[in-house]
Amino acid sequence: MARNAIVTGGTRGIGAAIATRLKQQGCIVAATYAGNDEAAAKFKADHDIAVYKWDVGDYASCKDGVAEIEGTQGPTDILVNNAGITRDGFFHKMSPEQWGEVIRADLDSVFNMSHQVFSGMRERGFGRIINISSINGQKGQMGQTNYSAAKAGMIGFTRALAQEGARKGITVNAVAPGYIATEMVAAMDEKVLQSITAQVPVGRLGTAEEIGDCVAFLADDNAGFITGSVLSANGGQYIAA
Ligand code: NDP
Repeated sequence: MARNAIVTGGTRGIGAAIATRLKQQGCIVAATYAGNDEAAAKFKADHDIAVYKWDVGDYASCKDGVAEIEGTQGPTDILVNNAGITRDGFFHKMSPEQWGEVIRADLDSVFNMSHQVFSGMRERGFGRIINISSINGQKGQMGQTNYSAAKAGMIGFTRALAQEGARKGITVNAVAPGYIATEMVAAMDEKVLQSITAQVPVGRLGTAEEIGDCVAFLADDNAGFITGSVLSANGGQYIAA
């Protein structure tokens, strides 16, 4: 049976790899984005995947956006909360705006989106919610108190909602990527990049496709016994208990 999936931030980077991988697996996929129309149009043309634009930090927009998607492709079976931003800075210099923007886009969004689909999943007795956290939510990262807090918050959310969904056939899991070779990372200073790679036991950055494979695994109908877990995909850089 073809499953209906929504991937937030699905038009670029890791999200694009997740969306295309789920399509490859037979899902009907909708990819959302915030404002980069050019990237979204290219993604749509390249992959024939529907794209929708709204701010996942805004509850009312998520409500309208999900209703529009479901009106077209039907009820949501799989939600991947992937959209995220960084606004780095040392804590003593961090503005309330820097803090708030990241919490809103990276953590509030997880509530805003999951809340739209969870009741329907309960009624139908099936659901997969997969939250893209980060190694920095597991271990903490200096210069990223906002991002580390949001990404750790996603893990707490995952563990709590997993317990609520379990008896209704809904699994809720997180994937915690390490450093992945996306545009965001590629834009980093060459020396910084080299020092990061040196900390990764497998000796390289991860690929977006590898994260797509993790999500596809957790989204599969056969993954029903895995819930509340955090799948670390970080090349051995941080081995969480
Ligand atoms: P990108 O910056 O390449 O892409 C982010 C996507 O999210 C874009 O589609 C963007 O839309 C969308 N987006 C951002 N903010 C919003 C918003 N408020 N509303 C709707 N859509 C939004 O990110 P990556 O692919 O690098 O990262 C994807 C996820 O993986 C993030 O959650 C990130 O924290 C996490 N991650 C990334 C790592 C990495 O090494 N890259 C490592 C660990 C975790 P638009 O194109 O319109 O801007």
